[in-house]
Amino acid sequence: MRDVDIHGIGMTSRRTRDRLIQRLKDQGIKSPEVLEVIRTTPRHLFVDEALSHRAYEDTALPIGFGQTLSQPYIVARMTEALLAGGTLERVLEIGTGSGYQAAVLSPLVKKVYSVERIKALHERSRKLLRTLSIRNVQQKLNDGGSGWSVMEPFDGIIVTAAPDQIPEELLQQLSEDNGRLIIPVGDRGVQDLLLITRQGDTFKREILEAVRFVPLLDGVQK
Ligand code: SAH
Repeated sequence: MRDVDIHGIGMTSRRTRDRLIQRLKDQGIKSPEVLEVIRTTPRHLFVDEALSHRAYEDTALPIGFGQTLSQPYIVARMTEALLAGGTLERVLEIGTGSGYQAAVLSPLVKKVYSVERIKALHERSRKLLRTLSIRNVQQKLNDGGSGWSVMEPFDGIIVTAAPDQIPEELLQQLSEDNGRLIIPVGDRGVQDLLLITRQGDTFKREILEAVRFVPLLDGVQK
């Protein structure tokens, strides 16, 4: 059965989505909350329309402007790692892109702050999140490499584009009490997905896995 309601099953059958969730479980995603949010978030609305029939495959898809939305496994993995330390109130995302990752985070945390450097993506995602009645995501057009200092501290920061080094400002905007940063770091091509946890002035670093992200770039593109 099909349902065209944007809040519901969307253009894809429940079975297709359930198959994706089974695949994520098989790959080691355990959090029931994260799995449920991925199952119910209408990913087909966040990708180019011509590719929406592939939205529930576990694959990265283009979102225009040379940018890509990560495969669901990576979104799930990053979200699960971010939330693994307990409930988060304030989360900063760098690289809003389509808005999908922000939409996935929105029911799981109290407030999401999301920064994007490409004006057209910033505007499109803002419109889509509004259409979906997602109200706890605050967005800004800016170079997110310097974080969002007036809103700090953040319990969690998630970066969805890869710098070759961790921007110092992001570390400084993490909560001193168990703030968590998930960030892909490395050269263009393959990077390490890192989890940094902060306790006071101590930053613990763990490598989660090898990933491929678009680069974190400087400046704003109007
Ligand atoms: N989280 C996004 C993934 C988009 S791809 C989603 O769910 O769709 C990465 C995004 O990071 C792109 O939109 C790119 O424009 C953006 N980006 C790259 N460098 C940036 C920077 N310095 N500040 C903010 N956004 C940046």
